[in-house]
Amino acid sequence: MPLDRSTQSTDSLDITVSGGSMGGLFTGIALDRTGHDVTVFERSSAALGSRGGGIVAQESIRRFLSRHGIADPDDLTTTAGERRLLTADGDVRTATPDSMVFTSWDALYRRLRDAFPDDRYHAGRRVDTVTPATGRATLDDGTTVDADLVVAAEGGRSATRRRLFPDVTPEFADYVAWRGLVPETDLPASVVSAFDGRFTFYQGSKTLILAYFIPGADGGTSAGERRLNWVWYDTLTGRDRDAIFTDATGDEGSFGVPPGELRSPVERRQRERAVDSLPPAFADPVAATTEPFVQAIYDLTVPAMTVDRVCLLGDAAFVARPHTAAGTSKAAGDAAELSAALDDHGSLGDALSSWCGRRRAYGDRLVTQGRRMGDDRLGLSA
Ligand SMILES: Cc1cc2nc3c(=O)[nH]c(=O)nc-3n(C[C@H](O)[C@H](O)[C@H](O)COP(=O)(O)OP(=O)(O)OC[C@H]3O[C@@H](n4cnc5c(N)ncnc54)[C@H](O)[C@@H]3O)c2cc1C
Repeated sequence: MPLDRSTQSTDSLDITVSGGSMGGLFTGIALDRTGHDVTVFERSSAALGSRGGGIVAQESIRRFLSRHGIADPDDLTTTAGERRLLTADGDVRTATPDSMVFTSWDALYRRLRDAFPDDRYHAGRRVDTVTPATGRATLDDGTTVDADLVVAAEGGRSATRRRLFPDVTPEFADYVAWRGLVPETDLPASVVSAFDGRFTFYQGSKTLILAYFIPGADGGTSAGERRLNWVWYDTLTGRDRDAIFTDATGDEGSFGVPPGELRSPVERRQRERAVDSLPPAFADPVAATTEPFVQAIYDLTVPAMTVDRVCLLGDAAFVARPHTAAGTSKAAGDAAELSAALDDHGSLGDALSSWCGRRRAYGDRLVTQGRRMGDDRLGLSA
């Protein structure tokens, strides 16, 4: 018989986390370190750490790493001291001092994964259903796991969210992000020096590309070891979104195609567009990228982040466009504040209400901000 959450103490809870990417690991670590008994289930059996590109390492991410003794943030970050905007010819239109810190998705993921106990991280295990009133999760092999709290950190396509809020759907923003990574050693010295220590942009008509250096595939942050990360926001005017999001095996996704799986005609066409429409400083790294990939840009908001004993956290709850550079830091903040709310309140019900109120307001603000930034920059504002 389940306890009413409003009368349940927040001492040493059993917690199931569905999803073992950034949000799941931030949550697992934060709650494990404050004395809760956390188990993470990640549906993917592949090494997630070999995927992903660049991330702006916001203060909340760096604070999370230091506060939990995971890593010295300097060991997995690169920096820029200037923000540069180029003209179509590649000349410098503006150069403004600005201090930015970057990391890579894989470097951060590896540090977080290493900081969470192996015996409580179960890869290749999908959570199929969650019962909010009891905190029971049923896994894909039929096993059931009972917990005081279930955190669904399942990303933007969370099935738990769909079950809790069937009317909530990701809203396509009418443009995509083409992305790529190039080892620094594959770039001419002139390109390296043009991007070194800078956060560089080019803004064209309904197109925007940016680039910065991130750690190398093995995590190296010194000159010569890094990768150049580029992100090219592009509208799909006159092109078929389904055709772009169908991968080389014929599978039709609606959110993106990972590295190495773009169909040849799609990749060829985008490479031609790069030569025709980007300044040479950006066209060169795009040409040097062996496995470009593409992601849809979309907005997502939920009416609540908790339903009884279930929390939606990270991208499962709110997806703000990447111009906010906040997806990963939002997941870190959600996790750190959930842990703090459980510390600060005696009852599970009070802790979750307080957490939901604060993080929902933040998520809403971020999504609104991302929509405004993206529509302005891509020339899509009404
Ligand atoms: C492989 C990968 C690469 C990425 N690369 C970048 C990047 O380069 N730059 C960037 O800014 N952001 C990247 N992101 C997104 C970024 O991680 C998120 O925006 C942000 O960190 C929030 O993370 P999240 O954990 O909420 O969601 P996600 O990172 O999307 O993770 C959700 C996780 O939940 C798992 N999952 C989903 N459903 C279930 C289920 N039913 N049972 C068990 N597990 C489930 C998924 O397999 C996934 O690992 C990437 C995400 C992934 C998965």
